[in-house]
Amino acid sequence: MRQPVEYPLTTIVPPVWPTGADLRPPRPQTPDSLVGNTPLLALRRLPAALPPTVHLLAKAEWFNPSGSVKDRPALNIIRTAEAQGLLHPGMTLLDSTSGNMGIAYAMLGAARGYKVQLALPANASPERKAILQTYGADLIYTDPLEGSDGAMMQAREIAAACHPHIFYANQYNNPANWQAHYFTTANEIWQQTGGQITHFVAGLGTSGTFVGTTHRLKQLNPSVQAVAMQPDSPFNGLEGLKHIPTAIKPGIYDEQLADEQVTVQTEEAYQMARQLAREEGLFVGISAAAAVVAALRLAQTLEHGVVVTILPDNGFKYVSERFWHNA
Ligand code: PMP
Repeated sequence: MRQPVEYPLTTIVPPVWPTGADLRPPRPQTPDSLVGNTPLLALRRLPAALPPTVHLLAKAEWFNPSGSVKDRPALNIIRTAEAQGLLHPGMTLLDSTSGNMGIAYAMLGAARGYKVQLALPANASPERKAILQTYGADLIYTDPLEGSDGAMMQAREIAAACHPHIFYANQYNNPANWQAHYFTTANEIWQQTGGQITHFVAGLGTSGTFVGTTHRLKQLNPSVQAVAMQPDSPFNGLEGLKHIPTAIKPGIYDEQLADEQVTVQTEEAYQMARQLAREEGLFVGISAAAAVVAALRLAQTLEHGVVVTILPDNGFKYVSERFWHNA
């Protein structure tokens, strides 16, 4: 092994090429191999008022190759369908999406030779639409007033025609969605906290993240407390999350899993998003900021504990929103 060399910062270090025993055959990397194993971050400055016995930790899901937590379920849905012989190159993957799942499908589909057709509300952010178009996805815009439910109805309608070249991924009802988190997210959290996690907090969209992660964590330690977070009203700015009482309930959602249900207001999430950027150096998306609001609120009630939450994406796709510039 080479010893590390001390050098002044201005020195230009030539690349070191492997020789002899260091030489390994190159391992091919595909986007699949980059999914999961995301870092677990300790939030250090925000929870300053917490006792040293309470820890607030968060999974940085934008480290996934298409930039969000949705790479996990998209990959598992695709792999499961391939294994079942339901999807093969030349076919079209169809689903509805509020953005991130579509981006994940579009990225993985491009790498495999699938066409990707997505129904999404017409008011999805310009950044999301541009990213989807860059990956070559075929977009069907639905009525913004009908939100993600309208997009889901549109995808169902297309799927009902049973075209033999279309695979309907159906993320709201497909068990491979929550199973992705059961097999990856939860086990990563368990390992990264050395089994010390006491509380898990996650927002509800399709509910896959919450259901799969909670299900596995409770198997590993039944005393882990799970908190499900959702927006406080049907009209909200928490992109990616659902107001469950007024939305079509996702088929994969299991209400029994949550020990507690909490709501977050859009303004609270905006405020937290600015604070995370300015005080923690974390430029996260709005649902991630909402998750931190809920996790911090919970942490403030504890004397001991390891609270873990999920940061589904970073802020790049929301950069054109005006709230970043408010005080
Ligand atoms: N936040 C964002 C930004 C999302 O795109 C999603 C997925 N809709 C979620 C949170 C919720 O994740 P899940 O679908 O696993 O509940």
